[in-house]
Amino acid sequence: MEGDMKTPLLAPPAPHHSGLLSRDEGASVIAIIGSGDFSRSLAIRLVARGFRVVVGSRSPHRVARGLFPDGVEVQSQRRAVEAAEKVVFVAVFPEYYPSLQGLKEPLAGKVLVDVSNATSIKSGGPSNAERLAGLFPQSSVVKGFNVVSAWALQAGAQDGTPRQVLICSDCSDAKATVLQLARGLGFSPVDMGGLCASADIEEAPLILFPSWSCPILATFLLFLFFYAYSFIRNILLPYLDHGENNFYRLPLVTVNETLPAVALVTLALVYLPGLLAAVLQLGRGTKYKRFPDWLDGWLCRRKQLGLLSFLCAGLHAVYSMCLTLRRAAGYTLLNAAYRQVKAGVENSWVEQQVWRSDLYLSCGILGLGVLSLLAITSLPSVGSALNWREFTFVQSGLGYAALTLSTMHTLFFGWDFAFFLGAYPYYLPPVFLLTLILPCIVIVGRLFLALPCLNIRLAKIRRGWESAQHRAPHHQEAGGSGDAESQPNFDV
Ligand code: NAP
Repeated sequence: MEGDMKTPLLAPPAPHHSGLLSRDEGASVIAIIGSGDFSRSLAIRLVARGFRVVVGSRSPHRVARGLFPDGVEVQSQRRAVEAAEKVVFVAVFPEYYPSLQGLKEPLAGKVLVDVSNATSIKSGGPSNAERLAGLFPQSSVVKGFNVVSAWALQAGAQDGTPRQVLICSDCSDAKATVLQLARGLGFSPVDMGGLCASADIEEAPLILFPSWSCPILATFLLFLFFYAYSFIRNILLPYLDHGENNFYRLPLVTVNETLPAVALVTLALVYLPGLLAAVLQLGRGTKYKRFPDWLDGWLCRRKQLGLLSFLCAGLHAVYSMCLTLRRAAGYTLLNAAYRQVKAGVENSWVEQQVWRSDLYLSCGILGLGVLSLLAITSLPSVGSALNWREFTFVQSGLGYAALTLSTMHTLFFGWDFAFFLGAYPYYLPPVFLLTLILPCIVIVGRLFLALPCLNIRLAKIRRGWESAQHRAPHHQEAGGSGDAESQPNFDV
């Protein structure tokens, strides 16, 4: 065995590869236990970045030739672990960890990287990494890389921003080695502290859109409300009242009435919490007081609400472009033309209506354009390229521009129809009128806050000034998120 280990297991890296952990630092040969999907992808990435890799399998002869890239050796688990100078990845499912106990001795003093994921969200109990640490007390266990899929490992950092990997360990040296390794592999490592964080890291890939549930629910409920309202007002009541059959409007026309309403109200919901936060700070005369939890949560979900608003606005644009393609639109046009011919009307041009439609279409297109810009800047790779001033200009200045344009789009659509009694069948106002309430409140509220007497006081508060009642005795509640400006994306 000793003789075997004298001959290098792997050829030195090709000259163009920049070995990030040199042999001198004792970590150039990295072992991976297990020869499955994760192991293969990790080996590909490691080799591409100039590391030397040896894979440890229970039965190396059964591993298909060509499965691993050139330069990777497949050995028995023991030989692979012995060959590793410092770092050993454990790429087997956690239920098989006890079967690795025979490797205790060669693994002693080495860094064991646990890449496993949890199978369910548990409450309490040791994590996979903690169990591995219990089985190998003489090794330093580091949790990491589990949030990256085998596919992402192979794909590399071609998609712009490096992917985050969450890393934790009780041994700071071992953690530093793995953090450096992650950086060397083109990831963006995040130090999550001690091994007690491993349970959360293992469960991270199981959590489904954690920050999206409330915004999606709010958008869905708004959609349900406006759709049901439109259905009752425009379809059900006319049918019950005088047998008018408008049910054909359900799949397209009603949806297209609902989408802009949801888009506009959701966009107003992006800016409303910022206004509420400002009013609270003005009223309290300090920013060093926590916002209520619901407001805190709302402020943190503005980006998601903004993106959902963008989705609805985009769908509304597509639906609107398809309106004239419908058979119903063709029939309606033909019937109107026939009635016009019968009535002997040669020219049905109404100047006012022409202006109205052009204005509302133009505002809608501009609003969607600005909203698209906001959505693009909320992408981390784009947002991180902007400085704080640019980011707030886009998210706050352009955000209000999008809200104003979208509100004008709806106002021009409504034109003067809201002032006619015929717009209130069954005493129910049209959808566009309901839609305008919240955005108008937000825009007027923002203008109100821009008054110098309020704006200057608010700016002072946000720079740490406190009113007399808070100054003595000075108290600062720790952990408060009382700064609405600190919340990025679709800000006040
Ligand atoms: P896999 O393709 O099934 O590979 C697992 C490997 O474990 C097998 O190839 C086998 O290698 C070894 N193995 C199987 N039974 C064993 C046993 N009884 N005792 C010891 N070793 C055994 O699984 P995987 O997708 O690579 O996942 C491996 C680990 O990576 C899991 O903990 C998983 O949670 C984690 N992970 C995977 C991904 C992914 O995208 N696949 C992403 C993140 C984390 P040998 O036959 O050569 O011994």
